[in-house]
Amino acid sequence: MNNLYRKIPKIDTFINKKEFQGLSKPLLTKVVKNYVDKLRRDIKDNKIEDIDIDKMVLQIIKEYKKILEPSIKSVINATGITIHTNLGRSLIDEKIFEKAKDICTSYCNLEFDMEQGKRGDRYEHTAKHLSFLFGCEDVLVVNNNAAAVFLILNTFAKDREVIVSRGELVEIGGSFRIPEVMKSSQAKLIEVGTTNKTKLSDYKNAINEDTAMLMKVHKSNYSIEGFSEEVDINEITKLAKTKNILDYYDLGSAYLPTLPYNLKNAEPSIFDILKNPPSLLSFSGDKLFGSIQAGIIIGKKKLIAKLKKNQILRMFRVDKLTLSILEYTAISYIKQSYDNIPSLKMICQNENILLERANKIKNSINAQIKIKESYTFIGGGTFPNRKIPTIVIEFTGDAISLQTKFRKYSVIGRIENDRFVLDTRTIMDKEMEKLISIIKKVIS
Ligand SMILES: *Cc1c(COP(=O)(O)O)cnc(C)c1O
Repeated sequence: MNNLYRKIPKIDTFINKKEFQGLSKPLLTKVVKNYVDKLRRDIKDNKIEDIDIDKMVLQIIKEYKKILEPSIKSVINATGITIHTNLGRSLIDEKIFEKAKDICTSYCNLEFDMEQGKRGDRYEHTAKHLSFLFGCEDVLVVNNNAAAVFLILNTFAKDREVIVSRGELVEIGGSFRIPEVMKSSQAKLIEVGTTNKTKLSDYKNAINEDTAMLMKVHKSNYSIEGFSEEVDINEITKLAKTKNILDYYDLGSAYLPTLPYNLKNAEPSIFDILKNPPSLLSFSGDKLFGSIQAGIIIGKKKLIAKLKKNQILRMFRVDKLTLSILEYTAISYIKQSYDNIPSLKMICQNENILLERANKIKNSINAQIKIKESYTFIGGGTFPNRKIPTIVIEFTGDAISLQTKFRKYSVIGRIENDRFVLDTRTIMDKEMEKLISIIKKVIS
Protein backbone atom coordinates (compact mmCIF):
# COMPACT_ATOMS: atom_id res chain seq x y z
CA MET A 1 0.00 0.00 0.00
CA ASN A 2 1.41 3.34 -1.10
CA ASN A 3 1.71 5.61 1.93
CA LEU A 4 1.14 8.67 -0.29
CA TYR A 5 -2.57 7.96 0.10
CA ARG A 6 -2.26 8.77 3.80
CA LYS A 7 -0.83 12.18 2.93
CA ILE A 8 -4.01 13.20 1.07
CA PRO A 9 -5.72 15.80 3.26
CA LYS A 10 -9.26 15.24 4.53
CA ILE A 11 -11.54 17.38 2.39
CA ASP A 12 -13.83 18.82 5.09
CA THR A 13 -10.95 20.17 7.15
CA PHE A 14 -8.74 21.05 4.19
CA ILE A 15 -11.31 23.46 2.72
CA ASN A 16 -11.20 25.52 5.94
CA LYS A 17 -7.60 26.59 5.34
CA LYS A 18 -7.16 30.35 5.60
CA GLU A 19 -5.89 30.52 1.99
CA PHE A 20 -9.41 29.59 0.87
CA GLN A 21 -11.12 32.37 2.82
CA GLY A 22 -13.83 34.16 0.87
CA LEU A 23 -14.28 31.37 -1.67
CA SER A 24 -17.66 29.71 -2.19
CA LYS A 25 -17.70 26.54 -0.06
CA PRO A 26 -19.82 24.33 -2.36
CA LEU A 27 -17.69 25.14 -5.41
CA LEU A 28 -14.45 24.81 -3.45
CA THR A 29 -15.55 21.39 -2.18
CA LYS A 30 -16.22 20.25 -5.71
CA VAL A 31 -12.87 21.52 -7.01
CA VAL A 32 -10.99 19.89 -4.12
CA LYS A 33 -12.88 16.64 -4.61
CA ASN A 34 -11.97 16.57 -8.31
CA TYR A 35 -8.38 17.37 -7.43
CA VAL A 36 -8.20 14.59 -4.87
CA ASP A 37 -9.80 12.09 -7.25
CA LYS A 38 -7.12 12.89 -9.82
CA LEU A 39 -4.45 12.69 -7.13
CA ARG A 40 -5.59 9.16 -6.23
CA ARG A 41 -5.44 8.10 -9.85
CA ASP A 42 -1.97 9.59 -10.24
CA ILE A 43 -0.73 7.79 -7.13
CA LYS A 44 -2.15 4.53 -8.44
CA ASP A 45 -0.41 5.06 -11.77
CA ASN A 46 2.87 5.92 -10.04
CA LYS A 47 2.82 9.37 -11.61
CA ILE A 48 3.81 11.35 -8.50
CA GLU A 49 6.46 10.95 -5.85
CA ASP A 50 5.22 13.30 -3.15
CA ILE A 51 2.31 15.54 -2.18
CA ASP A 52 3.17 19.19 -1.64
CA ILE A 53 0.27 20.75 0.26
CA ASP A 54 1.26 24.37 -0.51
CA LYS A 55 1.45 23.59 -4.20
CA MET A 56 -1.86 21.78 -3.98
CA VAL A 57 -3.51 24.87 -2.40
CA LEU A 58 -2.22 27.12 -5.20
CA GLN A 59 -3.34 24.74 -7.92
CA ILE A 60 -6.80 24.45 -6.38
CA ILE A 61 -7.20 28.23 -6.21
CA LYS A 62 -6.12 28.46 -9.85
CA GLU A 63 -8.62 25.77 -10.85
CA TYR A 64 -11.36 27.50 -8.82
CA LYS A 65 -10.75 30.81 -10.62
CA LYS A 66 -10.61 29.12 -14.01
CA ILE A 67 -14.09 27.68 -13.57
CA LEU A 68 -15.55 31.08 -12.75
CA GLU A 69 -13.92 32.74 -15.72
CA PRO A 70 -16.19 32.93 -18.78
CA SER A 71 -14.77 31.46 -21.93
CA ILE A 72 -16.41 33.93 -24.28
CA LYS A 73 -14.97 37.41 -23.84
CA SER A 74 -14.65 40.65 -25.71
CA VAL A 75 -11.60 41.26 -27.89
CA ILE A 76 -10.28 44.32 -29.68
CA ASN A 77 -10.62 43.66 -33.39
CA ALA A 78 -7.63 45.32 -35.03
CA THR A 79 -7.69 43.04 -38.07
CA GLY A 80 -9.48 45.63 -40.19
CA ILE A 81 -12.08 43.03 -41.20
CA THR A 82 -15.43 44.56 -40.27
CA ILE A 83 -17.62 41.47 -40.51
CA HIS A 84 -15.12 39.06 -39.00
CA THR A 85 -16.80 35.66 -38.70
CA ASN A 86 -14.30 34.40 -36.11
CA LEU A 87 -14.71 37.53 -33.99
CA GLY A 88 -18.49 37.61 -33.83
CA ARG A 89 -19.48 39.04 -37.23
CA SER A 90 -21.64 42.17 -36.92
CA LEU A 91 -21.75 44.26 -33.77
CA ILE A 92 -25.02 45.24 -32.17
CA ASP A 93 -25.63 48.89 -31.52
CA GLU A 94 -25.52 49.73 -27.80
CA LYS A 95 -28.74 51.74 -27.84
CA ILE A 96 -30.54 48.94 -29.65
CA PHE A 97 -29.13 46.46 -27.15
CA GLU A 98 -30.42 48.58 -24.26
CA LYS A 99 -33.92 48.54 -25.71
CA ALA A 100 -33.77 44.79 -26.27
CA LYS A 101 -32.56 44.41 -22.69
CA ASP A 102 -35.81 45.94 -21.42
CA ILE A 103 -37.76 43.37 -23.43
CA CYS A 104 -35.66 40.42 -22.29
CA THR A 105 -35.39 41.31 -18.62
CA SER A 106 -39.15 41.61 -18.20
CA TYR A 107 -42.12 39.69 -19.58
CA CYS A 108 -43.17 40.65 -23.08
CA ASN A 109 -45.87 39.92 -25.68
CA LEU A 110 -43.67 37.41 -27.53
CA GLU A 111 -46.60 35.10 -28.26
CA PHE A 112 -49.48 37.12 -26.91
CA ASP A 113 -52.03 39.07 -28.90
CA MET A 114 -52.55 42.23 -26.87
CA GLU A 115 -55.82 43.15 -28.63
CA GLN A 116 -57.55 39.79 -28.47
CA GLY A 117 -55.99 38.73 -25.18
CA LYS A 118 -55.08 35.32 -26.50
CA ARG A 119 -52.15 33.43 -27.93
CA GLY A 120 -50.29 35.35 -30.64
CA ASP A 121 -47.66 34.58 -33.26
CA ARG A 122 -44.02 35.34 -32.39
CA TYR A 123 -43.14 35.73 -36.05
CA GLU A 124 -45.48 38.66 -36.54
CA HIS A 125 -43.39 41.09 -34.50
CA THR A 126 -40.39 41.61 -36.76
CA ALA A 127 -42.22 40.58 -39.92
CA LYS A 128 -44.28 43.77 -39.92
CA HIS A 129 -41.29 46.11 -39.84
CA LEU A 130 -39.11 44.04 -42.14
CA SER A 131 -41.93 43.73 -44.70
CA PHE A 132 -42.42 47.48 -44.62
CA LEU A 133 -38.69 48.05 -44.98
CA PHE A 134 -38.34 45.72 -47.95
CA GLY A 135 -41.71 46.49 -49.47
CA CYS A 136 -42.46 42.78 -49.68
CA GLU A 137 -45.51 40.66 -48.90
CA ASP A 138 -44.15 38.78 -45.91
CA VAL A 139 -41.01 37.91 -43.94
CA LEU A 140 -40.02 34.97 -41.76
CA VAL A 141 -37.10 35.07 -39.34
CA VAL A 142 -35.20 31.89 -38.42
CA ASN A 143 -32.03 31.12 -36.47
CA ASN A 144 -29.55 31.81 -39.28
CA ASN A 145 -29.36 31.80 -43.05
CA ALA A 146 -28.23 28.16 -43.13
CA ALA A 147 -31.51 27.28 -41.42
CA ALA A 148 -33.37 29.44 -43.93
CA VAL A 149 -31.82 27.53 -46.85
CA PHE A 150 -32.62 24.19 -45.26
CA LEU A 151 -36.19 25.12 -44.38
CA ILE A 152 -36.95 26.45 -47.85
CA LEU A 153 -35.51 23.41 -49.62
CA ASN A 154 -37.20 20.98 -47.26
CA THR A 155 -40.58 22.71 -47.51
CA PHE A 156 -40.75 23.23 -51.26
CA ALA A 157 -38.38 20.70 -52.80
CA LYS A 158 -38.42 17.56 -50.64
CA ASP A 159 -38.08 14.55 -52.99
CA ARG A 160 -38.07 16.94 -55.93
CA GLU A 161 -35.42 18.63 -58.06
CA VAL A 162 -33.65 21.95 -57.51
CA ILE A 163 -31.61 23.39 -60.36
CA VAL A 164 -28.38 25.19 -59.38
CA SER A 165 -25.48 26.48 -61.43
CA ARG A 166 -22.19 24.53 -61.07
CA GLY A 167 -20.48 27.88 -60.49
CA GLU A 168 -22.55 28.47 -57.36
CA LEU A 169 -22.09 25.29 -55.32
CA VAL A 170 -20.67 27.32 -52.47
CA GLU A 171 -18.88 26.29 -49.32
CA ILE A 172 -19.13 28.89 -46.56
CA GLY A 173 -16.55 28.67 -43.74
CA GLY A 174 -17.65 26.36 -40.95
CA SER A 175 -18.82 23.48 -43.12
CA PHE A 176 -21.89 24.88 -44.85
CA ARG A 177 -21.89 23.35 -48.33
CA ILE A 178 -24.80 23.78 -50.69
CA PRO A 179 -24.71 20.17 -52.00
CA GLU A 180 -24.64 18.78 -48.42
CA VAL A 181 -27.42 21.06 -47.18
CA MET A 182 -29.43 20.06 -50.22
CA LYS A 183 -28.92 16.38 -49.41
CA SER A 184 -29.96 16.69 -45.79
CA SER A 185 -33.04 18.70 -46.76
CA GLN A 186 -33.96 15.76 -49.03
CA ALA A 187 -34.08 17.93 -52.12
CA LYS A 188 -32.38 16.60 -55.23
CA LEU A 189 -29.62 18.80 -56.60
CA ILE A 190 -29.49 19.18 -60.36
CA GLU A 191 -26.24 20.87 -61.38
CA VAL A 192 -26.27 22.81 -64.61
CA GLY A 193 -23.70 24.73 -66.63
CA THR A 194 -19.99 24.59 -65.97
CA THR A 195 -17.75 26.04 -63.26
CA ASN A 196 -17.14 29.25 -65.17
CA LYS A 197 -20.20 29.55 -67.41
CA THR A 198 -23.87 28.97 -66.88
CA LYS A 199 -26.49 30.22 -69.33
CA LEU A 200 -30.25 30.66 -69.02
CA SER A 201 -30.70 27.82 -71.53
CA ASP A 202 -28.88 25.50 -69.09
CA TYR A 203 -31.63 26.09 -66.53
CA LYS A 204 -34.33 25.89 -69.18
CA ASN A 205 -33.13 22.54 -70.55
CA ALA A 206 -32.98 20.97 -67.09
CA ILE A 207 -36.59 21.75 -66.17
CA ASN A 208 -38.94 18.75 -66.12
CA GLU A 209 -42.04 17.67 -64.20
CA ASP A 210 -39.97 16.88 -61.07
CA THR A 211 -38.46 20.37 -60.91
CA ALA A 212 -39.58 22.25 -57.81
CA MET A 213 -37.33 25.26 -57.97
CA LEU A 214 -34.58 27.21 -59.67
CA MET A 215 -32.07 28.29 -57.05
CA LYS A 216 -29.41 30.96 -57.27
CA VAL A 217 -26.68 31.08 -54.63
CA HIS A 218 -24.59 34.16 -54.01
CA LYS A 219 -20.92 33.29 -54.46
CA SER A 220 -20.14 35.17 -51.23
CA ASN A 221 -16.52 34.29 -50.54
CA TYR A 222 -15.05 33.82 -54.00
CA SER A 223 -15.40 35.21 -57.49
CA ILE A 224 -15.09 33.73 -60.93
CA GLU A 225 -13.33 36.06 -63.29
CA GLY A 226 -12.16 35.96 -66.88
CA PHE A 227 -14.10 33.81 -69.33
CA SER A 228 -17.20 33.56 -67.18
CA GLU A 229 -20.93 34.02 -67.28
CA GLU A 230 -23.72 33.67 -64.78
CA VAL A 231 -27.45 34.24 -65.02
CA ASP A 232 -28.95 37.25 -63.30
CA ILE A 233 -31.60 36.47 -60.67
CA ASN A 234 -34.14 38.54 -62.67
CA GLU A 235 -33.74 36.20 -65.64
CA ILE A 236 -34.13 33.18 -63.39
CA THR A 237 -37.26 34.68 -61.82
CA LYS A 238 -38.75 35.31 -65.25
CA LEU A 239 -38.04 31.79 -66.42
CA ALA A 240 -39.47 30.24 -63.23
CA LYS A 241 -42.66 32.23 -63.71
CA THR A 242 -43.21 31.06 -67.26
CA LYS A 243 -42.63 27.45 -66.18
CA ASN A 244 -44.82 27.82 -63.09
CA ILE A 245 -42.10 26.73 -60.67
CA LEU A 246 -40.46 28.52 -57.73
CA ASP A 247 -37.28 30.53 -57.81
CA TYR A 248 -35.14 31.17 -54.74
CA TYR A 249 -32.15 33.41 -54.23
CA ASP A 250 -29.80 32.58 -51.34
CA LEU A 251 -28.32 36.05 -51.20
CA GLY A 252 -26.02 35.31 -48.23
CA SER A 253 -25.46 38.89 -47.21
CA ALA A 254 -27.56 41.95 -48.05
CA TYR A 255 -26.95 45.68 -47.96
CA LEU A 256 -29.60 48.36 -48.13
CA PRO A 257 -28.35 51.92 -48.51
CA THR A 258 -25.50 52.73 -50.82
CA LEU A 259 -21.99 51.85 -49.71
CA PRO A 260 -18.74 53.84 -50.05
CA TYR A 261 -15.63 52.93 -52.08
CA ASN A 262 -17.60 52.02 -55.16
CA LEU A 263 -18.77 48.82 -53.50
CA LYS A 264 -22.26 49.45 -54.77
CA ASN A 265 -20.98 48.97 -58.29
CA ALA A 266 -19.72 45.51 -57.37
CA GLU A 267 -23.19 44.17 -56.75
CA PRO A 268 -26.77 45.40 -56.40
CA SER A 269 -28.38 46.32 -53.10
CA ILE A 270 -31.26 44.21 -51.86
CA PHE A 271 -33.62 47.04 -52.87
CA ASP A 272 -32.40 46.73 -56.44
CA ILE A 273 -32.92 42.98 -56.38
CA LEU A 274 -36.42 43.32 -54.92
CA LYS A 275 -37.57 45.61 -57.71
CA ASN A 276 -38.35 42.36 -59.43
CA PRO A 277 -38.80 40.05 -56.44
CA PRO A 278 -37.97 36.34 -56.65
CA SER A 279 -40.53 33.96 -55.11
CA LEU A 280 -38.19 33.56 -52.14
CA LEU A 281 -34.99 35.24 -51.01
CA SER A 282 -32.94 34.79 -47.84
CA PHE A 283 -29.92 36.36 -46.20
CA SER A 284 -28.07 36.56 -42.87
CA GLY A 285 -29.03 39.03 -40.15
CA ASP A 286 -25.44 39.47 -39.01
CA LYS A 287 -23.56 40.03 -42.24
CA LEU A 288 -23.86 43.39 -44.03
CA PHE A 289 -27.39 43.85 -42.68
CA GLY A 290 -25.52 44.52 -39.44
CA SER A 291 -27.75 43.02 -36.78
CA ILE A 292 -27.96 39.85 -34.70
CA GLN A 293 -27.50 36.27 -35.97
CA ALA A 294 -30.64 35.35 -37.90
CA GLY A 295 -31.86 34.13 -41.25
CA ILE A 296 -34.30 36.51 -42.91
CA ILE A 297 -36.63 35.02 -45.50
CA ILE A 298 -38.50 37.33 -47.86
CA GLY A 299 -41.35 35.99 -49.92
CA LYS A 300 -44.96 35.85 -50.99
CA LYS A 301 -47.49 35.53 -48.17
CA LYS A 302 -48.69 32.11 -49.19
CA LEU A 303 -45.15 30.73 -49.43
CA ILE A 304 -44.19 32.11 -46.00
CA ALA A 305 -47.41 30.56 -44.63
CA LYS A 306 -46.29 27.20 -46.00
CA LEU A 307 -42.86 27.57 -44.36
CA LYS A 308 -44.60 28.27 -41.05
CA LYS A 309 -46.49 25.00 -41.33
CA ASN A 310 -43.27 22.96 -41.58
CA GLN A 311 -42.63 21.29 -38.19
CA ILE A 312 -38.92 21.88 -38.67
CA LEU A 313 -39.43 25.62 -38.20
CA ARG A 314 -39.83 24.93 -34.48
CA MET A 315 -36.18 23.82 -34.39
CA PHE A 316 -35.02 26.99 -36.08
CA ARG A 317 -37.13 29.42 -34.13
CA VAL A 318 -35.57 32.51 -32.61
CA ASP A 319 -35.82 33.99 -29.15
CA LYS A 320 -37.19 37.36 -28.04
CA LEU A 321 -33.64 38.73 -27.92
CA THR A 322 -33.17 38.07 -31.63
CA LEU A 323 -36.61 39.35 -32.55
CA SER A 324 -36.34 42.57 -30.58
CA ILE A 325 -32.83 43.41 -31.80
CA LEU A 326 -33.82 42.65 -35.37
CA GLU A 327 -36.95 44.75 -35.04
CA TYR A 328 -35.01 47.76 -33.74
CA THR A 329 -32.48 47.33 -36.54
CA ALA A 330 -35.36 47.34 -39.04
CA ILE A 331 -36.79 50.49 -37.44
CA SER A 332 -33.36 52.15 -37.67
CA TYR A 333 -33.23 51.35 -41.38
CA ILE A 334 -36.79 52.61 -41.85
CA LYS A 335 -35.80 55.90 -40.19
CA GLN A 336 -32.57 55.82 -42.20
CA SER A 337 -30.64 56.12 -38.91
CA TYR A 338 -27.65 54.29 -40.33
CA ASP A 339 -25.61 55.37 -37.31
CA ASN A 340 -27.38 52.57 -35.43
CA ILE A 341 -25.79 49.97 -37.70
CA PRO A 342 -22.23 49.61 -36.37
CA SER A 343 -20.90 47.54 -39.31
CA LEU A 344 -22.11 50.11 -41.82
CA LYS A 345 -20.70 52.92 -39.74
CA MET A 346 -17.31 51.22 -39.66
CA ILE A 347 -17.25 50.61 -43.40
CA CYS A 348 -18.25 54.22 -44.04
CA GLN A 349 -15.50 55.79 -41.90
CA ASN A 350 -13.24 57.80 -44.17
CA GLU A 351 -9.46 57.65 -43.99
CA ASN A 352 -9.23 60.97 -42.13
CA ILE A 353 -11.03 59.50 -39.15
CA LEU A 354 -8.75 56.47 -39.29
CA LEU A 355 -5.65 58.65 -39.56
CA GLU A 356 -6.76 60.67 -36.55
CA ARG A 357 -7.13 57.46 -34.60
CA ALA A 358 -3.68 56.28 -35.70
CA ASN A 359 -2.09 59.60 -34.76
CA LYS A 360 -3.73 59.52 -31.36
CA ILE A 361 -2.15 56.13 -30.74
CA LYS A 362 1.25 57.14 -32.11
CA ASN A 363 1.33 60.31 -30.03
CA SER A 364 0.61 58.36 -26.86
CA ILE A 365 3.40 55.87 -27.44
CA ASN A 366 7.02 56.90 -27.18
CA ALA A 367 8.27 54.10 -29.35
CA GLN A 368 8.92 53.41 -32.98
CA ILE A 369 5.65 52.72 -34.69
CA LYS A 370 4.77 53.68 -38.24
CA ILE A 371 1.47 54.87 -39.64
CA LYS A 372 0.81 53.43 -43.06
CA GLU A 373 -1.85 53.42 -45.74
CA SER A 374 -3.08 49.94 -46.53
CA TYR A 375 -6.05 47.90 -47.73
CA THR A 376 -8.52 45.67 -45.98
CA PHE A 377 -11.66 43.65 -46.77
CA ILE A 378 -15.19 43.70 -45.43
CA GLY A 379 -15.28 39.97 -44.63
CA GLY A 380 -18.14 37.71 -43.65
CA GLY A 381 -18.55 36.40 -47.18
CA THR A 382 -19.30 39.80 -48.67
CA PHE A 383 -17.53 41.52 -51.55
CA PRO A 384 -14.71 39.00 -52.02
CA ASN A 385 -11.61 40.49 -53.65
CA ARG A 386 -12.87 44.02 -53.05
CA LYS A 387 -10.21 45.99 -51.22
CA ILE A 388 -11.13 49.07 -49.26
CA PRO A 389 -8.53 51.59 -48.07
CA THR A 390 -7.47 51.74 -44.44
CA ILE A 391 -4.80 53.07 -42.09
CA VAL A 392 -2.63 50.71 -40.06
CA ILE A 393 -0.09 51.07 -37.29
CA GLU A 394 3.01 49.03 -38.03
CA PHE A 395 5.32 47.65 -35.34
CA THR A 396 8.98 46.83 -35.70
CA GLY A 397 10.15 43.52 -34.28
CA ASP A 398 9.26 39.89 -34.76
CA ALA A 399 5.72 39.83 -36.16
CA ILE A 400 4.73 36.40 -34.84
CA SER A 401 5.87 37.11 -31.31
CA LEU A 402 4.11 40.51 -31.32
CA GLN A 403 0.95 38.86 -32.58
CA THR A 404 1.09 36.34 -29.71
CA LYS A 405 1.82 39.02 -27.10
CA PHE A 406 -1.08 41.20 -28.25
CA ARG A 407 -3.37 38.19 -28.31
CA LYS A 408 -2.62 37.59 -24.62
CA TYR A 409 -4.26 40.98 -24.01
CA SER A 410 -7.18 40.07 -26.32
CA VAL A 411 -5.99 42.35 -29.12
CA ILE A 412 -6.17 40.68 -32.53
CA GLY A 413 -4.15 42.30 -35.29
CA ARG A 414 -2.76 40.99 -38.55
CA ILE A 415 0.57 40.40 -40.25
CA GLU A 416 1.32 42.34 -43.42
CA ASN A 417 4.62 42.19 -45.30
CA ASP A 418 6.19 40.35 -42.35
CA ARG A 419 5.21 43.14 -39.98
CA PHE A 420 2.60 43.07 -37.23
CA VAL A 421 -0.03 45.76 -37.78
CA LEU A 422 -3.09 47.07 -35.97
CA ASP A 423 -5.76 48.21 -38.43
CA THR A 424 -7.61 51.31 -37.25
CA ARG A 425 -10.75 50.66 -39.31
CA THR A 426 -12.20 48.20 -36.82
CA ILE A 427 -10.84 49.76 -33.62
CA MET A 428 -13.65 51.46 -31.76
CA ASP A 429 -13.29 54.85 -30.05
CA LYS A 430 -14.41 53.34 -26.75
CA GLU A 431 -11.48 50.91 -26.93
CA MET A 432 -8.76 53.50 -27.61
CA GLU A 433 -7.65 54.17 -24.05
CA LYS A 434 -7.45 50.48 -23.20
CA LEU A 435 -5.63 49.70 -26.45
CA ILE A 436 -3.03 52.41 -25.87
CA SER A 437 -2.23 51.05 -22.42
CA ILE A 438 -1.94 47.52 -23.84
CA ILE A 439 0.42 48.70 -26.58
CA LYS A 440 2.58 50.37 -23.93
CA LYS A 441 2.72 47.14 -21.92
CA VAL A 442 3.51 44.96 -24.93
CA ILE A 443 6.31 47.03 -26.40
CA SER A 444 7.94 48.21 -23.17
C1 LIG B 1 -23.23 33.15 -45.14
C2 LIG B 1 -24.02 32.40 -46.09
C3 LIG B 1 -24.85 31.36 -45.66
C4 LIG B 1 -24.95 30.95 -44.23
O1 LIG B 1 -25.53 31.96 -43.46
P1 LIG B 1 -25.45 31.91 -41.86
O2 LIG B 1 -26.25 33.08 -41.42
O3 LIG B 1 -24.02 31.99 -41.51
O4 LIG B 1 -26.05 30.62 -41.43
C5 LIG B 1 -25.59 30.69 -46.61
N1 LIG B 1 -25.51 31.00 -47.91
C6 LIG B 1 -24.70 31.99 -48.37
C7 LIG B 1 -24.64 32.29 -49.82
C8 LIG B 1 -23.93 32.74 -47.46
O5 LIG B 1 -23.13 33.71 -47.91
